[in-house]
Amino acid sequence: MPKIYFLDVTNRDGVQTAKLGLSKLEKTLINIYLNEMGVFQSEFGFPTTRHESLYLQANLELAAMGVLRPIRLEGWIRAIASDVETAFKMVPNIRHLNLSISTSDQMIDGKFQGRKNRDDIISDMVEAVDAARALGVESIGVNAEDASRTGLDFLIKFGLAAKEHGADRLRYCDTLGYDNPFTIYEAIRALAENVGIPIEQHCHGDLGLAVANSIAGAKGAIDGGQDAYINTTVNGIGERAGNADLVAVILAATKSKGFADKYQLGGSVKLNKAWKIARFASYAFGIPIPMNQPGVGANAFAHSSGIHADGVLKDPENYELYSFKELGRGEPRFVETGREIIAGQYSGISGFRHVMGKMKVSFASKEEANEVLELARYANVASQTPLVEDELLFIAKYPKIAKKLLTLTPLE
Ligand SMILES: [Zn+2]
Repeated sequence: MPKIYFLDVTNRDGVQTAKLGLSKLEKTLINIYLNEMGVFQSEFGFPTTRHESLYLQANLELAAMGVLRPIRLEGWIRAIASDVETAFKMVPNIRHLNLSISTSDQMIDGKFQGRKNRDDIISDMVEAVDAARALGVESIGVNAEDASRTGLDFLIKFGLAAKEHGADRLRYCDTLGYDNPFTIYEAIRALAENVGIPIEQHCHGDLGLAVANSIAGAKGAIDGGQDAYINTTVNGIGERAGNADLVAVILAATKSKGFADKYQLGGSVKLNKAWKIARFASYAFGIPIPMNQPGVGANAFAHSSGIHADGVLKDPENYELYSFKELGRGEPRFVETGREIIAGQYSGISGFRHVMGKMKVSFASKEEANEVLELARYANVASQTPLVEDELLFIAKYPKIAKKLLTLTPLE
């Protein structure tokens, strides 16, 4: 029986969202938390963008060291052979790529304005797939941008051409959030049956249907005999109204009425990391988690009205579909209400030693302490928000990697 896998795109779709962004260290922590959670793949960035190079290389080093394992780290680029070549020049160790090109007439006509037709779209894409194969890539996903406004016959032709040239998956992008669960089910099932490779569901929330469409699309892929790869972002952060929220999709796939009886997750996904990753993403992006967010919102397990409070106290299952403990909630949180010493971009060694000492980190020498302090200062310059404990611990544990993440050299 085919299975459902999660392919998180926070570090690509999430960070390209207007008004939002993450530092390279924050992106790295997202990858680490996704790995701890058992997410199959992270679309970890843009291999043809210069300021991403050292971050991407550093994360591939973490993978080689076993820190970012077993998660797959995949880069997103345009489906053009020259972009594939540039990606390999800038990030030689890249092994997984998603290649993206627009497939709808709206976008072919509206973006290329007569310079490209449908045949050009397919030939650009297969040239890119061939180039990636020739350069030794291990896995290739091919993205049909605006697939939901693309005729099914052309999508099948596009998918078959991708498969013939060695693509491993086809990404069905509902780029504008136009689908509903009924239309996406039919489209993805037809693609699974006729193309015969695993299908990714990339859904947006412009109509409030991103999670529902992801689940319906996954059912379509599996009913069509193929694995389903649901694209998610942490807290649903992504272009415009956002993407399918990672935690909500996991909850929907595992807790909704009867779904998991037939449609199961591949690998083991640790839902109990949900609280940690959602809170970190909220902090790093600077966006509060909505109170009514599934699973991780402040009200997800709050009860006040007489009948509900009485019912949930007698038996939580009266008014709760799942337990807060399953999401990793319930630990008390300590907030300093008195004096605080914070590590920042202008910190000195004494305050820094105090902060690190509270986390039981000590240094072998004065030089080592100064080196880690210098890295923490630069990390704070990049984030402009106080570093969280895991960031400080990461810098102390992997100073060489941290230095790479913090090195930005424009216009060289
Ligand atoms: Zn998107």
